[in-house]
Amino acid sequence: MSETKRYNVVPLPAFKDNYIWVLRDERHAAVVDPGDARPVLDYLASEGLRLSAILATHHHADHVGGVAELLRHFGVPVYGPKGEPIATLSRALAEGERVEVPELAAIFHVISIPGHTRAHIAYYGAKDLFCGDTLFACGCGRLFEGTPQQMCASLAKLARLPEDTQVYCGHEYTLANIRFARAVEPANAALAERERAEMRTREQDRPTLPSAIGREKATNPFLRCGEPEVAASASRYLGQDVRDPVQVFAAIRNWKNEF
Ligand code: ZN
Ligand code: FE
Repeated sequence: MSETKRYNVVPLPAFKDNYIWVLRDERHAAVVDPGDARPVLDYLASEGLRLSAILATHHHADHVGGVAELLRHFGVPVYGPKGEPIATLSRALAEGERVEVPELAAIFHVISIPGHTRAHIAYYGAKDLFCGDTLFACGCGRLFEGTPQQMCASLAKLARLPEDTQVYCGHEYTLANIRFARAVEPANAALAERERAEMRTREQDRPTLPSAIGREKATNPFLRCGEPEVAASASRYLGQDVRDPVQVFAAIRNWKNEF
């Protein structure tokens, strides 16, 4: 935690493999992607915290399903992407806007990262990135409402953040993602090392998150579509030669869907 940052980030597991991220100090909390209200209400009650804000990255129910119930207990602002069907929003956000949570002395910059959904956003501040279902540890979200071109541009934006940016994703998908990444880049030594480390983490039942941008750039095949080994694997999967990073991305995204 940097000197200037007043909050800690705590993962609340939800459903099968979601994380709801709680930002908290001694008295206040903000919550990112509360798909379920129950774990949030239980945590706030047991820790004696007051909710100050709700931040949503995209409209899927496993990220916003708990918002209405939280609003019955706390009258707080709800932030989320402009252009997605989230009925409970109090402010719709687009690229470049700022969100403040004064109770936590937190300021987040909104980064537009379409691809998984039409208007998916990330929140970035104090080298913390909350990126929902766009960038995962060693993977990326499925393209439900966007094109490979859009998703590549979105991931490239996130890859330009500082290497030590902490990456808080919406799901614990890391081990399955790494199994796929190993098929794409069997010669990537950093990836092999990461697999060993993350397996130990999961054996101890700890979250593999947050990740870091530098670690993702070294091991996440979806951020490495310009690497010769990734292009070669994509070409093998397609049965034809591809070099263009967007085409490489599209190929490995399809491959992952059926992996
Ligand atoms: Zn989603
Ligand atoms: Fe999700």
